[in-house]
Amino acid sequence: MTVAAILCENVGSSDVGPYILTNTVELPTTVIAFIQKRCPTYRLKYSRTVGRRYFANNCPKCGMISGDFYLHSEPGGPFFPTDQEEASALTIETITVDKKYFARTGCGYGTAELILQFAKRFPPY
Ligand SMILES: [Zn+2]
Repeated sequence: MTVAAILCENVGSSDVGPYILTNTVELPTTVIAFIQKRCPTYRLKYSRTVGRRYFANNCPKCGMISGDFYLHSEPGGPFFPTDQEEASALTIETITVDKKYFARTGCGYGTAELILQFAKRFPPY
């Protein structure tokens, strides 16, 4: 199944990024629409593991949540590549942000640089 995550590349301060959003509870509608156009099952969903709702990837067939812990926190998982090969399995599509957006979210550091370096770009540049 297709899964989505948000990577913030150009952040305001150079000592805090880039990073990947995890356990996100609030997003701008523009960003939600952008993701759901490509990945319709990315939506707010209650997680029993976390104990609250957050924007998660869900199976298009059975609706089961594919939690951020599995996708983001396990080395070798989709959004936690450990080498060039794993990072190159990802595709980055850019959304241009022309104003300040607000999000309530956690941040994952560490693998964003690897993803930015080796993931495929769509459209290519
Ligand atoms: Zn399923």
